[in-house]
Amino acid sequence: MQRSIAGAVCALMVGLGTRAAAAGAGPTKPDLARSAETAADDWRVAGHDNGDSRYSPLAQLDEHNVGRLRLAWSYDLDTHRGQEATPVVVDGVLYTTSAWSKVLAFRAATGELLWQFDPKVPGAIAVQVCCDVVNRGVAVYQGRVYVASLDGRLIALDAATGRPLWSVMTVDPKRPYSVSGAPFVAAGKVIIGNGGAEYGVRGYITAYDATSGRRAWRFYTVPGDPARGFENEAMRRAAKTWSGHWWRDGGGGTVWNSFSYDPDAGLIYFGTGNASPWSGQVDGGPRADALYAASIVAVHVADGTYAWHFQTTPGDVWDYDATQTLTLATLKLDGVDRKVAMQASKNGYFYVLDRLTGEFLSGRPFAPVSWTSGLDPKTGRPAVAPDAHYDVSGKRFLAKPGVLGAHNWQPMSYSPLTGLVYIPAQELPFPLLKDPGFQPQALGRNMGLDMASTLTLPENEPATAAALAAQKGYLSAWDPVAGREVWRAEHPGPWNGGTLVTGGNLVFQGTAAGEFLAFRASDGERLWSFPAQTGIIAAPMTYAIDGRQYVTVMAGWGGIFPLSAGGLSFKSGRLPNRSRVLTFVLDGTASLPPAVQAAREFPAPPAQLQAAAAVTEGERLFPRYCSGCHGSAAYSGGLVPDLRYSPALADDALWNAVVRDGALSNAGMVAFKRVLSPAHIDAIRAYVIHRAQIGYAAEHPSAASSH
Ligand code: CA
Repeated sequence: MQRSIAGAVCALMVGLGTRAAAAGAGPTKPDLARSAETAADDWRVAGHDNGDSRYSPLAQLDEHNVGRLRLAWSYDLDTHRGQEATPVVVDGVLYTTSAWSKVLAFRAATGELLWQFDPKVPGAIAVQVCCDVVNRGVAVYQGRVYVASLDGRLIALDAATGRPLWSVMTVDPKRPYSVSGAPFVAAGKVIIGNGGAEYGVRGYITAYDATSGRRAWRFYTVPGDPARGFENEAMRRAAKTWSGHWWRDGGGGTVWNSFSYDPDAGLIYFGTGNASPWSGQVDGGPRADALYAASIVAVHVADGTYAWHFQTTPGDVWDYDATQTLTLATLKLDGVDRKVAMQASKNGYFYVLDRLTGEFLSGRPFAPVSWTSGLDPKTGRPAVAPDAHYDVSGKRFLAKPGVLGAHNWQPMSYSPLTGLVYIPAQELPFPLLKDPGFQPQALGRNMGLDMASTLTLPENEPATAAALAAQKGYLSAWDPVAGREVWRAEHPGPWNGGTLVTGGNLVFQGTAAGEFLAFRASDGERLWSFPAQTGIIAAPMTYAIDGRQYVTVMAGWGGIFPLSAGGLSFKSGRLPNRSRVLTFVLDGTASLPPAVQAAREFPAPPAQLQAAAAVTEGERLFPRYCSGCHGSAAYSGGLVPDLRYSPALADDALWNAVVRDGALSNAGMVAFKRVLSPAHIDAIRAYVIHRAQIGYAAEHPSAASSH
């Protein structure tokens, strides 16, 4: 019996895809020149420069010749999970990361692989990663490449060889932290944050000496247990804005994306995520402001002390992370040059702040907003709509923007030539309902929501069609001075890629529908497209070598949306993940292999063994423990195995080996016996069989379902 289970587990592993170790090793102006790390032909920082403009002055490629843009080289990655990195090019070498925090170095002109580095992230970490096993890239500085691994290590590599030089653990491995953001180098320090607010952790950022790896400072974003004393005055003040026993759930406020830097001011800028849990306190009444969660924060790079904050969403219960990397620029506002930090925030507002003081300058909605009737024009504080407080009312609230935001981590860009910001915007309304019986657990998502009642939409029913119809995705060209959209390019659906804008008056963006596109930056005319065979969520970048301008993007559908939304992520089509580095040049001569779509027969599901009550119980449990990776209806958008096909459904011993005992823990499917009873595990199986029967009936309308 043991042998047969082992064999079956191996068969399941094959379905998980590869993650094995790879072999071998004007009126406005951008604040670019001030970045010592910027050289015109290179792309030296993930965001191009310290101000994260993602604007390159390169102009060989322009609105007149972009039609001749062709593939120069491509490289197939050894993973089928989402690709979110922006590559970096320094001195002719392109450095990037793939899912599972693997680092690759290429000769940027040819695509020749120079070296690769696999940090060998333990697969079990995936169970405490909200949003796919992604990584957003490296920092390169003085001959070293820095990467943060999913399990929380900051690793320095020799840029020439990929050999590890040092590694430090940046998180408490006993807490459900993870790291997906790119490290950022400023003033000789490497800075890194972390994620995990959906599971219950305390957010912070840490700076390490770039040469030695020695810890320089740490800045917590939310206060800890008052009984232990506060680290600084900023935490003491923040603690007055919390209610209940917030520290028991960690507090949240994680800094899971990246950073910007003003060297003249000596300030580092970042945004913080939601407080934990989403729904507010379990024992302290409605959430108060909860500083410095859902905030834009500046700290002094020299010592990590607090400089200022602006809270975009006081008392956030809608997962309105303010983690979108801040874009720094100088804008002429009311006739005066102002040094600003800009953010198109998850909460639907485009903010312009004075980056020296944190003063609110403007905030305008760039997408539909249902949670507020507007912002105070002086302070920027939102007037929250009464029905938005589902945490107080106990009633369902349809949040616009939804929890994936009107703009998520996908980077925006800013052109000093057009004065416009290019936002990968979306509309994904999300129903929120509090779970009145919520208690934090050691495994699974701790968000305090009743998602079974709101999110588990049946296939082929009007509610699903309505949810899909409400989804939108578009590229919004936004005037940050006037606070209005200048043009918009509609895409088939949401969750599209980040943007790049160039001196050739071009904006580049990939889409969920598998197209890599170029638009005229000034008016949005679509000029060029390339069929990428997979959805693109990462941001492109550009560089020049020997007089030729290249454009590179990491292709590979994934991230939280397809992973957790299942059929609700198919608005743009059902493209599989094909993870690749794609590089383009004028008159390039490379081509991709043909896209062969593997057809898959939906096998007949086993008979339902459990009573209807078990199915209902499984439906309640599934969103909390399973749907983060396996979709809201037992299938994700193609990144991990569709549970409805699983041979374990018909095999009691195999089901328990995997779900109860953790036979696939190397792939993130850890033992759930810690938090789930045998009856719960049976109920989840009953629910998945139920979903399989619905799916089978839908694909075989004439066959009699066993249900
Ligand atoms: Ca969040």
